[in-house]
Amino acid sequence: MNFLKKKVNFKRLKYTIDKSSEIGKIPGNGLRRLALSDEDKEMRDLFKYWMKDSGLAVRVDDFGNMYGRREGDTNQSPIVVGSHLDTQPSGGRFDGILGVLIALEAVRTLNDYGIETTRPIEIVNFTNEEGARFEPPMMASGGLAGTFSRDFIYTRTDREGKSYGDELTRIGYDGKQENRLKDFFAFIELHIEQGPVLEKENISIGAVEGIQGTNWLEVTVTGESDHAGPTPMDMRKDALTAASKMVSMIENKAKKYGVSATVGRFSVSPDVVNCVPGEVVFSLDLRHLDNDIRITALNEMKKEIEVIAANRDVSVNIKNLWDSETAVFNNVIVNMISETSNQYGYSVKRIPSGAGHDAKYMNDMGPTAMVFLPSVNGKSHDVSELTLDKDIEQGADVVFGVIQKLANYDKELG
Ligand SMILES: [Zn+2]
Repeated sequence: MNFLKKKVNFKRLKYTIDKSSEIGKIPGNGLRRLALSDEDKEMRDLFKYWMKDSGLAVRVDDFGNMYGRREGDTNQSPIVVGSHLDTQPSGGRFDGILGVLIALEAVRTLNDYGIETTRPIEIVNFTNEEGARFEPPMMASGGLAGTFSRDFIYTRTDREGKSYGDELTRIGYDGKQENRLKDFFAFIELHIEQGPVLEKENISIGAVEGIQGTNWLEVTVTGESDHAGPTPMDMRKDALTAASKMVSMIENKAKKYGVSATVGRFSVSPDVVNCVPGEVVFSLDLRHLDNDIRITALNEMKKEIEVIAANRDVSVNIKNLWDSETAVFNNVIVNMISETSNQYGYSVKRIPSGAGHDAKYMNDMGPTAMVFLPSVNGKSHDVSELTLDKDIEQGADVVFGVIQKLANYDKELG
């Protein structure tokens, strides 16, 4: 099959992106399209129309996930490709949106050329990926994977007390449980990188190897709050000087292990000029693609925190807030993304994902991988989010190529 001579219709793709960029538009070229809002409904209606217009069989499941199916020559399990159309409150035009609209463009291009595939192809829009209105994020893909029950999902409420279930019904996207995605041969999600790596290295395509595992900790350092004047330096139990040592130790260990470690929250009490700080609470976000490396670094950091606390005569409490295992993507598909990019003559690099995506839960269900496109200045979840036309076009060609290879693949993906 000589798909390399064929490319997507970028003008048509651009038109769908521009149309999407009008729905929920906010100043600065951004979007506010919260899950199950009126704007989400408007976008869904348009997407449904586009799918039907492209000859796809549309169905909606009980989480509101939308699917468009293009039949194959056989009834084997499908290739599934897509992402999400919802945004952050002050989000950009690209995020997961590109992943859905490029999936649509890929099947439209198959139609243009009358290309038939062995396996069916389904495109998908997952509900509430962002978690901005209803927490947690990636809720509906997590529902498919069995991580969240329907009852749990339906009873999540937004800040006004409106529930997911009620809002899903209100916008008319409460579909049937039997319509859920059950099994698939492969899942592909294209998404923007949301970090600076591809742009800095002038690379168009990221072949994503997996999603980094994450640990969130909360560290409470307790000393004694005393008057800053009368308390001699050597008689203090200063929680802040101890915590500062801990933060610089964390940075050193992060460099040693090559993990990313972030202390993003740091609060001091009593937070007064002339008081020795009695208590400090800080957070730690730790990530790496290799679970063993991450856990080794984590344990060493925890041990060192205890040592610093003992040396400084303060007490410390370390609480695990949340953790998430690494999702390692299917290597055959990751290689296929690299190889297809090379065949098109597009620059490609294997990279990990620092953020979570629907692909994480899909990876629990079957062979999965992701394609990343560069984010200008590494920005996302903001109106300044931007991915350049040339990268969008190349990403769409790669998805178009990869889904054809997968839809005709006659071996096991492992
Ligand atoms: Zn996203």
